[in-house]
Amino acid sequence: MLIGIDMDSVLNDLDVAWTAWIREKYDLTFTRDKMTTWITDDDFPQIPCKVTDFFHIPGIFGTFNPQPGSIAVTKQLTQDGHQLFVVTSAHYLWWADKGLWLRKHFPHIPSHNYITTYQKHLLNLDVLVDDGLHNLVAFRGHKIIFDAPWNRRVPDELKGNTRRALDWSDVQRIIAHITACQQMAEAIPSGSSGTFCKA
Ligand SMILES: [Mg+2]
Repeated sequence: MLIGIDMDSVLNDLDVAWTAWIREKYDLTFTRDKMTTWITDDDFPQIPCKVTDFFHIPGIFGTFNPQPGSIAVTKQLTQDGHQLFVVTSAHYLWWADKGLWLRKHFPHIPSHNYITTYQKHLLNLDVLVDDGLHNLVAFRGHKIIFDAPWNRRVPDELKGNTRRALDWSDVQRIIAHITACQQMAEAIPSGSSGTFCKA
């Protein structure tokens, strides 16, 4: 299958680093669980500076850690014959840092499979793994929500047609299930395909 994988807070731990930065700089009590929406500066009216200044620290996108399990699972998915694409919404100033980070930690994903776009739904992929619900709403393939505090309230249009992965082993399990369902559907004569792999 063609599998699209988001980068921030899916392949990397951007949110962990961002949380630590906010705690250190502005609010000692801040924790990741308080990110119940994807934070904008408006969520911090008590703070005179911008929490999104974090993204303008030179080279910041090269400093994050890979998500636990992400390297091993993406290697296995590649070995299983899937084609992996990194699909990231990124300002053009971040592209180089993001690309170098991917080459360092995920050399098994070809660099010509890096895609940067804010309109992921336009891509003709079989699966999209993303923590951003807005990226999944209009996507037409299999939608996997990578669990995070800011995506627990699922809008009606995503209910019933998404699967939630709590971690990378869950991503692996869900993709194995989708693959098995597709193989079953292909083995059965016409008319049945598409009924096996609903969420
Ligand atoms: Mg993300």
